[in-house]
Amino acid sequence: MRVLLVEDDESIAEPLVDGLARYGIVADHVATGAAALAAPPTDMVLLDLGLPDIDGIEVCRRLRRDGDIPLIMLTARGDETDRVLGLELGADDYLPKPFSVRELVARMRAVDRRTRPSAEVPVRTHGPLSIDTRTREVRLHRIPVSLSPKEYDLLLLLAADPGAVVARRHILDTIWGPSFFGPGKTLDFHVASLRRKLGDAGWIENRRGVGFRLVVQA
Ligand code: CA
Repeated sequence: MRVLLVEDDESIAEPLVDGLARYGIVADHVATGAAALAAPPTDMVLLDLGLPDIDGIEVCRRLRRDGDIPLIMLTARGDETDRVLGLELGADDYLPKPFSVRELVARMRAVDRRTRPSAEVPVRTHGPLSIDTRTREVRLHRIPVSLSPKEYDLLLLLAADPGAVVARRHILDTIWGPSFFGPGKTLDFHVASLRRKLGDAGWIENRRGVGFRLVVQA
């Protein structure tokens, strides 16, 4: 991955560039908003909000207007307004300083997974589980698992971001459609069935009153 780091503070930028390199990530560093806007296309932008020339929020706005490049805002400002504004302007995530390189890389990978068009990764692997999105074939420890269409859709949705809780309403809207007002137990029924087929209830964790998440098992 090659990213653009927009950060005017050398004491932050330098160790960050080195740290990212240890994860195999090449970071091109610029120190101003103008340089960020003039930079060639990249895989992701890491944007400091407090820049000397153009406000980071404005840089975010312009980058978004010109394309949908994944963007993570880095900021010393803990201000809720900035966070909300940044996310509204299309930033994919927000990381307050100070943060560790490891934490940043984890966020970058999550954003990369979310924003990358799924067609580019036909086979998704999560531990022993693999999902082939072209053939809709699911394998566990290389053994095919036969899922119903709804079970497959449910698994694919949860596997889009393993560990992240997906709200019940979002699952129902996505898989059954926003006009679905069937039995409240429909989703639970499919979750139970999917768990059974995966052979371990631990794969899908129920966050009571919130939703479900995929927990990758060994
Ligand atoms: Ca700054």
